[in-house]
Amino acid sequence: MKLDVDVLRYLSKDDFRVLTAVELGMRNHEIVPSELIARIARLKHGGTYKVLKNLLKHKLLHHDSSKYDGFRLTYLGYDFLAIKTMVNKGVFVAVGRQIGVGKESDIFEVAREDGTILCMKLHRLGRVSFRAVKQKRDYLRHRSSFNWLYLSRLAALKEFAFMKALEAHGFPVPNAIEQNRHCVIMSLVEGYPLVQVKQLQNTDVVFETIIGIVVRLAEHGLIHCDFNEFNIMIDDDEKITMIDFPQMVSVSHRNAQMYFDRDVECIFKFFRKRFNVSFKECIDDIDGSDDGRDEGGKPSFSAIERSDGFLDRELAASGFSKKDEEHIQQFIEGGAESDINSDGEGVDSVEELDEANSTDGDSSHLLEQDDENKSGGKDESFEAGENSSSEKE
Ligand code: ADP
Ligand code: MG
Repeated sequence: MKLDVDVLRYLSKDDFRVLTAVELGMRNHEIVPSELIARIARLKHGGTYKVLKNLLKHKLLHHDSSKYDGFRLTYLGYDFLAIKTMVNKGVFVAVGRQIGVGKESDIFEVAREDGTILCMKLHRLGRVSFRAVKQKRDYLRHRSSFNWLYLSRLAALKEFAFMKALEAHGFPVPNAIEQNRHCVIMSLVEGYPLVQVKQLQNTDVVFETIIGIVVRLAEHGLIHCDFNEFNIMIDDDEKITMIDFPQMVSVSHRNAQMYFDRDVECIFKFFRKRFNVSFKECIDDIDGSDDGRDEGGKPSFSAIERSDGFLDRELAASGFSKKDEEHIQQFIEGGAESDINSDGEGVDSVEELDEANSTDGDSSHLLEQDDENKSGGKDESFEAGENSSSEKE
């Protein structure tokens, strides 16, 4: 379905207020009862049902009356809430073409007011995996739509936190600019994923740079876990940028060695197949030694000297907690998804909404904006997205 941000222009304050009410209601309801939505939204002049109909028409909500009459957010609805918040904050003013469909994300260009183009990643954790899981495990069916909001937001939170920390330590990653809900705004990398590159000027240097990144990550206590030609960007000067961090783990993870070796093997295999390089030679040529490398030239996990606590110390300060990490890891590793609930306390009444507003930056921001009649103006500059994203609800 198209990410038609043009629709944003036609959505009123009341529309966003009701959309936000559904989001809040979904904290403890898979399907939010219509009358609860009305109670949370507290529209000044009533008319929640009419608004719900409009949101349904634009596919921002899904209607479900199988158990009781209620609604839930669609991906598109969640996208709009994040986009609206970012626009209100002045992070960007327009959404452009789609530049990537990842396994579990949709990537768009967005434009700042001064014309700078940035990259917007909308996380879709659960899009692929939940379908597979659903086929296998029936009991998860009723929870699937309940969890994706939470998991996608966690993925974005993690990616943003890691990108910032990695950047601070001099790793070649995009500049992390903003995160809201399941959406991360980062600098746009000039260049292409390595998988698209057929020829290199300095194959050995590029190869050794990439392996060097894996080793240095491990020295800092981290393993990428999806380090391959799809998540390595390269520009015309053969400068490398690493992307895609939601699945990263600590070197203290029980499968750390396996993940590390897999990352290394991915790179070796790709360079062997695509560029026909013999690695032992190339490694000896570059640094004149093969310290900590096995006979095939691969770095050995056990030989890496680690500085402890990088992950814990710096990421704990970023708002991405140990519990968050456990939840996302459980999901990625296909473990106990069914135990993961949506985040935090639920919202059942107007009184609780006020409380929720003071703790939940995302939603309160929207509601305050609406209350104070500040939300207009910038929407005018939205452009329609050109390309379709693969799937939305
Ligand atoms: P996924 O987790 O879904 O694989 P990625 O972060 O790997 O998502 O992004 C998918 C694709 O989008 C990448 O292969 C790349 O082509 C493009 N992309 C992602 N981030 C950027 C960026 N900052 N600049 C330019 N292109 C990007
Ligand atoms: Mg990727």
